[in-house]
Amino acid sequence: MKIITIIGARPQFIKAAALSREIAKHDDIQEIIIHTGQHFDANMSDIFFEQMEIPKPNYNLNINGLSHGAMTGQMLEKIETVLLEEKPDWVLIYGDTNSTIAGALAAKKLHIKVAHVEAGLRSFNMNMPEEVNRILTDRISDILFCPTQTAIDNLKNEGYDNINCKIINSGDIMQDAAMFYSNKEQKPNIDIPEKFILTTIHRAENTDDPKRMESILSALNDIAKETPIILPLHPRTANIIKKSDFKIDNLTIIEPVGYLEMVYLLNRCELVMTDSGGLQKEAFFFEKSCITMRDETEWVELVNNNFNKLVGADKNKIKDTYFNHQFATDFNQNLYGGGTAARSIIEALIAF
Ligand code: UDP
Repeated sequence: MKIITIIGARPQFIKAAALSREIAKHDDIQEIIIHTGQHFDANMSDIFFEQMEIPKPNYNLNINGLSHGAMTGQMLEKIETVLLEEKPDWVLIYGDTNSTIAGALAAKKLHIKVAHVEAGLRSFNMNMPEEVNRILTDRISDILFCPTQTAIDNLKNEGYDNINCKIINSGDIMQDAAMFYSNKEQKPNIDIPEKFILTTIHRAENTDDPKRMESILSALNDIAKETPIILPLHPRTANIIKKSDFKIDNLTIIEPVGYLEMVYLLNRCELVMTDSGGLQKEAFFFEKSCITMRDETEWVELVNNNFNKLVGADKNKIKDTYFNHQFATDFNQNLYGGGTAARSIIEALIAF
């Protein structure tokens, strides 16, 4: 069986690390990796391949820094060329980026089977580019690997019982990665305070809205007077901050770090504050509470079980939640399948 894996962004590298490791156990499966180039900086791309021992991409399309339409269009064209040459049995795509939708569309039009890992997630916010990518990708995938029962329910509510595709609750591939790498942590090259908050901010709905950015950063800056905040900063957010006069002097801002450094920080932080999808779950995997600076989340089971609180971008709500909210403390719940997603996914592809 020949699988083409399409990846291009940081969270996809992390997911692919877990799945490629599983594929490598099967002599009769050949994996060809296409890196679209969506993330290309050394600390947003290369470091993940090195640290997580992801096989070197067979194709590097080097498509980045463009508008959504131009990026997706160029990916579509270049991925199609590779697919025509390689003639795979499956195209495997992850999550909700432009690389995801471009890969699915290129494959489907060539009648190549499409497997979507992390299917069925919804924020119900169609202003998010990720939401558009998810919905369209799910609809043209042949096999949909859902990380949670919520994702399965979302698809059922959209009438997927009447659509010719296979839906499987595989569990969450990010838990496989978190479990495999949890004891391989690496200390980042900074002084780590005894008690600190781990923060990331990169969602367009925050970074592209100056009011939301100001409110979030101002809340964080106030909280950091009490508890240090370590903020590995995504290049998108760094660019916005550079052009602004937001007050951020109390924050410990560092360059984006590799996954093993994140594991180190996750193992030791007091709490996570983020707008990242992946980090919300990692907080749970590493038994940390999470404050999510978004208006909605795809990972509703974390909110419903009080491991995570959604606070939007409201300064007072962010601060009040940090200082006063009592989170759940018993993390002994299997919300994401327990770290066996890679095996379920490969077994299902073989059996299809
Ligand atoms: N991450 C990382 N280094 C960083 C910031 C995040 O390795 O400096 C990891 C994080 O632990 C998580 C993933 O990147 O596994 C999440 O990616 P991101 O927040 O970019 O995307 P999202 O999950 O929101 O799609």
